[in-house]
This record gives sequence, C-alpha cells and structure tokens, in this order.
Amino acid sequence: MSILSPLETPITVQQQARLAYVYVRQSTMAQVVHHGESTELQYGLVERAVALGWPRERVRVIDEDLGQSAAWADQRSGFQQLIAEISLARVGLVLSREASRLARNHGDWHRLVELCGLFGTLLADGERLYDPSAYHDRLLLGLSGMLSEAELHQLKLRLHAGARHKAERGELHLGLPVGFVRLADGTVDLEPDQEVQARIRLAFQKFADLGSARAVMHYLRQSGLPLPVRRRRGPEPHPVTWEPARTSRVLSLLKNPTYAGTYVYGRTVLDPTRRQPGQRYSGVVRRPPAQWPVCLHDVYPAYIPWDEFVRNQARLRANQSRYAEAQPGVPRQGRALLQGIARCGRCGGWMGLGYSGRGQYPVYRCADAKAEYGSATCQEVRAEAVDVAVEGQLLAALAPDQVALAVAALEELEQEDRALHHQWELRQERARYAAERARRQYQLVEPEHRLVARTLEGQWEVALRAVEQVEHEYEQWRRQPGLMLSRADREAMRALGENFPILWHAPTTTVVDRKRLLRLVIREVLLDNHRARGQVWLQINWQTGAATEHWLRRCVLSYTQHADLEDVEQQVRSLHTAGHVDGEIAAALNSAGFRTAHGRAFNGRAVWYLRQAWGLPAVATTTSLEPTESEQVISAEEAAGIIGVWPTTIYKWLRIGRLRGVQVRSGLSWKVVVSPAVIAALQVHVAQARRVTRRLPIT
Ligand SMILES: [Zn+2]
Repeated sequence: MSILSPLETPITVQQQARLAYVYVRQSTMAQVVHHGESTELQYGLVERAVALGWPRERVRVIDEDLGQSAAWADQRSGFQQLIAEISLARVGLVLSREASRLARNHGDWHRLVELCGLFGTLLADGERLYDPSAYHDRLLLGLSGMLSEAELHQLKLRLHAGARHKAERGELHLGLPVGFVRLADGTVDLEPDQEVQARIRLAFQKFADLGSARAVMHYLRQSGLPLPVRRRRGPEPHPVTWEPARTSRVLSLLKNPTYAGTYVYGRTVLDPTRRQPGQRYSGVVRRPPAQWPVCLHDVYPAYIPWDEFVRNQARLRANQSRYAEAQPGVPRQGRALLQGIARCGRCGGWMGLGYSGRGQYPVYRCADAKAEYGSATCQEVRAEAVDVAVEGQLLAALAPDQVALAVAALEELEQEDRALHHQWELRQERARYAAERARRQYQLVEPEHRLVARTLEGQWEVALRAVEQVEHEYEQWRRQPGLMLSRADREAMRALGENFPILWHAPTTTVVDRKRLLRLVIREVLLDNHRARGQVWLQINWQTGAATEHWLRRCVLSYTQHADLEDVEQQVRSLHTAGHVDGEIAAALNSAGFRTAHGRAFNGRAVWYLRQAWGLPAVATTTSLEPTESEQVISAEEAAGIIGVWPTTIYKWLRIGRLRGVQVRSGLSWKVVVSPAVIAALQVHVAQARRVTRRLPIT
C-alpha cells in the first residue's frame, strides 16, 4: 500500500510509521544572525513534513549545528546523530532546505545517500522528494552533492584569493593587538591611552634589559604593574582591560610584528595532520618570518624598530633552546633520584629539583604555574622519602623471585604460542583438503553438464582462494614479533634479577648510573601531596606500560596536616571524657600505634598541646577526683611545700598527668589528690633529678 506524494514519489506506510527529521543548519554564527529568514525557512520544513503525512509529534528537528562550519562532519554532532538514527532504521524521511546542504563534503554526502538507500529513508528539500533506493533519484542526489561541493570549492578559492589580493596591498583589515586603534577612516594609530602605550614600551624595554619573557613578567608583577589586554570577543568596540602580567602575554607582545609597524598576513597556517579528534582548534602552526606570504614594513606606527623585532625573535629562540636543554630527560648529578622523571600529579607539569627549608633538604617542585604567572608554586614534595619508596618498589619489582615469576609467565605465553601454531597448521590443512575435494568433483563431472561444471568450477576457485587466504594470514601472523625466548635470554633475565640489587648497591655505582638504571625500568613518577592530608600519593608508570599507585606518609609541620588527625582526636576525646590524664592518654595513643606530626611517640606534653587546641579542660570532672581511702585532697601550694618544689612544678606535673588534680574554676587554686606513696615517689624523683643536674629545671 502506498500513498502518492504531489511529486509522484511513493511514500510507504512503513516509512510514515518512522520518524521524520528536519535538519537545520547554517554555516557560521554570522549567517545565523544575518540570515534569520533562512533559518525560518528551514523550520518551515516541519510543515512540509506534516503535509507529506507525518504527524507533527513524530517530526524531529536537529539544529545542533547552528553556528558550526560544515567543512568537516566530525565537528558536527547533529549530522552524526542523524546518521546514527538512519542506521538504526528509525527515520522515514529527512528534510533539509536543500537536500544537497545535508553534507557539503563529498564523502559524507555519499555515505548519507547510501545509508538512506539501504534503510529505506526518503530525502526531501523544499521542492522535491527523493527516494535514494531508486536509481534516478540517486543519480540526481549524487549530482547535486557534487555541484554543492564544487560550489564550496569555488567559493573558498574566491574568498582566499580576494583576501590575499587585499592583503598584498595591505588593505585587508587584520585584528589589531592592544596598543593600536583603527580610526573611522580605516587608518591605524597608536592607542590614545598614554598608560597603555607606556606599559607596552616598558615591556619591550625590560625585555631588552632582562633578556627573557619570564623575567619581564616577574619584573611587572613585582612592580605591581598589570598589562593591557584587549580581548576580541563579543561585539565591537573591544575595551582594553588590565590584567596581571603573564609570561604568555609578554611573549605574544614580543612575537607580534605589528608592534614593529609591520603588516603581516599568513603568520599561521592550518596543518590538518596535527588536528586531534575532540580538539577543535589544534593544528594551527606558526610560520617563521621568512615564510610569511605577505610582510609589508612601515604600515603601522611602530613601538619598536624592525631590527629590534628581529633581534628579539633570535633571543627568544636562544632562550627556548637553552630551556629545551634544561628540560627533564637528561640524568644529571644530584641526590634526587627522580630528577627528570617526576611529574606533578595535580597539573601534569614536569617537576624540577629544588631545595627547601633554608636549602636543607631536596624537594621536587612543580613550578609551571610559577613560570607562567609568577604565582605560588603548585606543590613541593620532599624528595628523600619518595626516593626511598620508589627505590623500594624498583628493587621489589626486580627481586630474583619476581623475575623468576616473570620468566615463568613468559614460558607460559610461549606454550600458548606453540599451540596457536598448531591451530594454524590445522586450518591450512583443512583449507587444502577442501580445495582438493572441489578439484576432484569438478574433474568427475561430464563436460556435457555445462551448468553443473560451471558451478563446480566456481566452487573450486573459491576453495583455492580460501587456501591462499589462510596461507597469507598465517604468514602475517608468523611475521609478528614472536615470544620465543632462547635459553640464553632466559638465563640473562634470571641473572638480571640476581645482579640488579647488587649492581644498585655497589659502591662504584654513581648517582647518575642509578638514575639511568631507574629509567630503564620506570618511565615517570607522578607525585601529589594534596590528595589526602599528611600523605604523598605517587604513581609509578613503568616502561612496560603498567602503572602502580602508592601512598606515603609524609613529615608534616603541623597537626592540621596530620594524616590520622580524626582518629587521634576521637581517641583523645573519649579517653579524656573517661577521666584519663594526659600521660595516660599519651600511653594509650602510643600503644594504638599513633605518632605525632613529627613522627615521634606521644607524651603528656603533646597531648596537652592537642587538648589546648581542641579546647578540652584539664581534667574532666570533680567526681573523678574522688579520693580513695589512702588519698587526700590538698591545695597545689601545700603539695609544693610537702614535696619540696616550686608550685610551678606542681602545675607542670598536673598538666602532664604526673599528678591528679582539678581547678574547680578559673582563678581558684588547684586541688591536688595525693597519697603518701605518690608523695614519696615524687620526692625520690626530685632528689634524683637534682643529683643529675642542679642547673636544669625539674620536670
Ligand atoms: Zn603542578
């Protein structure tokens, strides 16, 4: 059953049961703004779909492509979506203002027509309905696609040629960098704002003095001088804004020939081979000045003379090659093992070696942000502990038993390989047998049976081709690098496992040697000490492609960075509530395996410090003071008199838990619980301490 459309192309019920898609597109944002009427027309296609018999709710509009250029379909998700829907046989009709607009690029166009033909989808524009499965319609569609492509090509050529001609006369108005203005009559003048001019001149002058863009950036930052910026976004006029200096901004100032008064067209070129999928703007390559297609001097008023511009470029290149030499990669003398292969786990930049704590200990320092903005260092990781950890991992990975395991695994792979060889031989044999049988069958048939003979001949041919195919595939498979290890290889690997630790620790092995050895096995190490408090996260990327993650407890300066802070706090609070004094709490923490921020055992003083920080009073309640029969409650002063020390010593003992006591209210005297045994023990302690040294205060 079919319904005839006004243009005699039959629409089937099956097609109408599927969806109709209206594909709306304009190539550029400018077209969207200025040719709104065209967009209107495209939306009018919905009506056409309804007129062709599709219920309105089954007409979908794809207009994701508004503002995206059509030259590459890979940038247009709307087009991809359409293709996907067609391939799922969900689309009965595709409408576009001109069917040929659907895909400008020839290859895409053919793909679309082909798919529509395969899945029985109709195509329509404002005038006609096409059935891509019908020969004549296909021909028409193919032609209009080709014409559209030719038109695009011509358009491009004309545009480029026009721009080029105008550029050659210096008449093509290029975007001006900050520091210049284009007057109403089209001529270009220096920015009237004197401050903008002065700052740009200062940047050039400072580069002449200091010799690097980074030094200029630091100079401007330290002097508190921002740089003028003009962003060419949004509607004109683009106002000048002031932003803190950045190295990249200084560089773009130095590299722009406009400041030398020179008009240049074609400084960059698009290299399609460098385009990365998913990155829309990559592939732009800067040309060296010698290759600029148009370079006219003295077109604009200049900030610097041309020869200074040329000198600056040479200097920048020299800086860059010096920087390239200093790039990570070459092992250098120095303590830090990971120098050159340490990477920042936060921003991905290479980490350099630095010294921290007044030059006392080496650190891996991520200075990318510092180089670009002069801002704070991204992160610093102390080198020693990380080096020890990585060294440990390396030696563990190359331990004799580990290497033996690896060799065993390789042997297993070898066996698998042999099994596969056998499989291939069987496959070959079967194919040859089939061919032989087909040959015999063909030879047995009588020549009079021409039809039969022809069929059998065909089968024989097919079988022969299959043999050829299998042989070819086997050959290719065999050519892949095999896993066959010779006996010598295996022995060498075992020996490596045994010798590596010896070699590593040998006194004749220098630091540089160790770094080289390390790099044979480890490609890079990612470091991050911001992932978890008090710990360093590291990821070792091995040369084999494997990656392993590790955590390291690091030395911290304060408890706020302590890794187990929550656990420690919980313990201290619960022990404190239970009425334990600082000394007891410290002992409990130590036996539970906790350590202080500096990695030492807790003592009463450390617990006192934490209690102060968390606002916990000295001893919980007066009820905990309940003296036993042998104990009595006296004032702190009395206790001092009995034991023979100053009251301050009593307070200290109370603080660290050597004595039990309570201050009922702030300002009142302390009550101390003592027993004759405690007094005697403290008196002995004091006597001993005095004998050891009479000078030191007693604790
Ligand atoms: Zn970083």
